[in-house]
Amino acid sequence: MVSLEDAGAGAFLKNISIVGGGWAGLSAAVHAVKSGWKVSLYEAAPQLGGRARRVVRNELHLDNGQHILVGAYRDTLALMRTVGVDIPSSLWRMPLALKYVDGSGIQLKNIPAPINVLAGILTATGWSWPDKGRFLWQALQWQRQQFSCATGLSVTDICTGIPPVIMRQLVEPLCVSALNLPCDKANAQIFLRVLKDALLGEVGSSDMLIPRVDQSALFPDKALEWLTQQGAQVFTHRRISDLRELPPSHKVLACPAWEAAGLVSHLSPSWASQALGMRHTSIATVYLQTNDEIDWPLPMMALKSHATAPSQFAFDKGRLSQRLEMQGVIAMVVSNSTCDKDALTELVLRQAHEELGFKSLKPLLTVVEKRAAFACTPGLLRPSMHIHDGVMACGDYVAGPYPSTLEAGVRSGIQVIEFLNNSALDENSA
Ligand SMILES: Cc1cc2nc3c(=O)[nH]c(=O)nc-3n(C[C@H](O)[C@H](O)[C@H](O)COP(=O)(O)OP(=O)(O)OC[C@H]3O[C@@H](n4cnc5c(N)ncnc54)[C@H](O)[C@@H]3O)c2cc1C
Repeated sequence: MVSLEDAGAGAFLKNISIVGGGWAGLSAAVHAVKSGWKVSLYEAAPQLGGRARRVVRNELHLDNGQHILVGAYRDTLALMRTVGVDIPSSLWRMPLALKYVDGSGIQLKNIPAPINVLAGILTATGWSWPDKGRFLWQALQWQRQQFSCATGLSVTDICTGIPPVIMRQLVEPLCVSALNLPCDKANAQIFLRVLKDALLGEVGSSDMLIPRVDQSALFPDKALEWLTQQGAQVFTHRRISDLRELPPSHKVLACPAWEAAGLVSHLSPSWASQALGMRHTSIATVYLQTNDEIDWPLPMMALKSHATAPSQFAFDKGRLSQRLEMQGVIAMVVSNSTCDKDALTELVLRQAHEELGFKSLKPLLTVVEKRAAFACTPGLLRPSMHIHDGVMACGDYVAGPYPSTLEAGVRSGIQVIEFLNNSALDENSA
């Protein structure tokens, strides 16, 4: 990254105001401080973290939603290290696995790509040899096309050669967990990009990294500590409703698309209308408590979800966190959920009894995030980071190669600061 302080004679301090303290805003703040900017960050909520934050229930540290990271989240992991997060004790790392409780499914081996993918497919259980052959052939076609395809295609469109059992047990769960949409509604270009970066990236890119601490402890708490130590000003409970409330400064809007649209509709109606046009999908997390022993081979299991058994993944929070009070806590994730909270809790309870075989179960908390992710549909056009002179946007929804993820937010925070660094250097040398 270009640093203003590294620019020698041209070094100077300038002010940046960041509106929103989710992972994108915090990423922008950390990178701005590292580049020598004077940073003020304004967050409407009482706590930082936005859509990835702690929720406390009965003194248990849960989250507003269960998250998974992958090894390919290069910038997120680097950012966490910068603010002092100890990655090995904060994230449970394991090779990519989509294993079901009946033993079927796939688990990659701890060997370099693409041999790990090949070995994973060949040793997957529950798939016939002809099915594996057809899937490998399709994967080879994707590779030949360098994991790109025409805009406007859905994931279903690019999977015509894949047998139904592999669609059900692999492609659909991957698609819904990465893009939060079923294959027929999901953007094929972005799906292929995720596959490429995760499956064919450097060693460990496809690993799953599951939080062992709550989402606030995973990064926002440390980021606040680091930013404060570095002299940045961080205000919580501070909702910005008019940009004139901010001091003279470059302005970075790291709030959600619809909020940013409201703040800039007078400055850039076309940007605001594109941002307002974005659609969103929900994710629910149903936390359950059991007294039964949890004997899954892995701390995260895939589930055979369908309309009346809506959860796609279950997480053993006790095994992940190792904390006594978390023993017996299970997080069941329902991506792209549509039914109401109570009905959903009932369905998920029944699914946990039937599919996971629990006898004792009680609901702890259900969190439904209605606008968890932007709808990553075929042909989607995303707003750019440039809004108006001196006003930029960052956030997971801003134009970029990834779906609604922590990595998309973090990268967008870096991108906006790099742009401001370069503009400041240009101004300085003019
Ligand atoms: C339930 C759930 C599960 C998810 N699972 C995963 C996962 O497994 N893996 C993954 O990578 N991603 C996952 N995501 C997506 C990920 O959480 C988001 O992509 C990421 O947190 C977006 O960060 P952001 O900073 O762009 O936006 P946000 O987190 O939305 O941050 C925006 C911030 O702006 C603040 N704000 C809004 N208006 C104002 C205002 N006017 N003034 C000041 N502040 C304001 C908000 O309070 C918020 O803190 C999940 C999301 C949810 C909700």
